[in-house]
Amino acid sequence: MNQGLLSVDAALEQMLAAAKPVVEVEQIATLEATNRVLARAQRSTMDVPPMDNSAMDGYAVRLSDLKQGNSLLVGQKIMAGSVGRPLEPGTAARIFTGAPIPPGADAVVMQEHCVAEGNKVLLKRTPKPGEWIRTVGSDVKKGGEILPAGKRLLPQDTGLAASVGIKTLPVFRKLRLGLFFTGDELVMPGEPLAPGRIYNSNRFTLRGLAEVFGCELRDYGIVPDTLQATREVLRRAAGECDLIVTSGGVSVGEADFVKPAVEAEGKLLMWRIAMKPGRPLAFGTIRGAFFIGLPGNPVSSFVTFLVFVRPFLLRTQGMTEVMPRAIAARADFDWPQPDARREFLRVKWNAQGGLELYPTQDSAVLTSTAWADGLVDNPPGRAVGRGEMVRFLPYSELYW
Ligand code: AMP
Ligand code: MG
Repeated sequence: MNQGLLSVDAALEQMLAAAKPVVEVEQIATLEATNRVLARAQRSTMDVPPMDNSAMDGYAVRLSDLKQGNSLLVGQKIMAGSVGRPLEPGTAARIFTGAPIPPGADAVVMQEHCVAEGNKVLLKRTPKPGEWIRTVGSDVKKGGEILPAGKRLLPQDTGLAASVGIKTLPVFRKLRLGLFFTGDELVMPGEPLAPGRIYNSNRFTLRGLAEVFGCELRDYGIVPDTLQATREVLRRAAGECDLIVTSGGVSVGEADFVKPAVEAEGKLLMWRIAMKPGRPLAFGTIRGAFFIGLPGNPVSSFVTFLVFVRPFLLRTQGMTEVMPRAIAARADFDWPQPDARREFLRVKWNAQGGLELYPTQDSAVLTSTAWADGLVDNPPGRAVGRGEMVRFLPYSELYW
């Protein structure tokens, strides 16, 4: 096996077991609640729809009236938002979508099946009992749970809450995520790129991810490769953040100060993970804050963020479901020489509904991540032949 390397699952298990979900709850406007995590299950205090109403524009009728014939006097008109009178025997009510069914009516005939003749209506079809009537409580029952605790609220969830009149929702406070970037070689776009320097692309990728996951971001920028500077920013960030995520400096090279800095300021678990890209990963605590140190290689930091930081921060934000759902998909590529470590390959859907592989899987080639639609999660040592099914993690499942 992978001597001295920890498996992805074992590392994740330890991290998730250590995670401390946010407990502070904020009551916020339902209108602003999309992408927040619901702190308490929501129940409906009402039936939806609140009354029987018409699913169509047409005529509300009493079925027993249709035994004598299919022409009825139109006795009233009921628009959405108004309430009709009880249906008098032998009459129909002109009715519109969403309007309450008048007492006595037991079906609606859609207007396409009716002919208006002066003050009468001729029904070209006999409706079935209850046809085109939305019954009270058929969507939501009074007292029923509409949203579970620990769910990230999607736009349709806020709509559902609003449909039962919920004006505000209890959500967990946002996670305070601190980011910093180690490396004397880093400069920002807009600054001159002196010889030997590179742009700090990880700042953009990781900041973007922090936004995707709804964090309150503290960005401490580029930190010089010294023990002193690394310790100082860690100390400051630990006082201001729930979680500190860093890029670079977690190897054991001469310019790698993250390990000694975290050891000096807090507690460190340093792992060599059996994954590719990735390998070095640091996890620890600095006083009340958690710390995750990602490798500096742009593909590695992106992938390790999705594999480790994502579930950790979702759990910390109070979510119950944190593991991504994979899809079984067809490999339209060969991967004859797999690594002994678990690999996360950058792939893209093709027009035939299979997956194509980015030609270079080098952890420094950021283009592969932008080109891809997601990652194939390939078990250690598994050679893949064209046409075989693989475990696919589309970005859409990983971005939340
Ligand atoms: P490190 O993990 O610090 O040894 O860095 C590994 C590789 O990633 C080196 O080639 C670094 O130059 C590169 N790297 C480190 N940090 C960044 C960053 N913020 N943006 C882009 N590349 C980086
Ligand atoms: Mg470095």
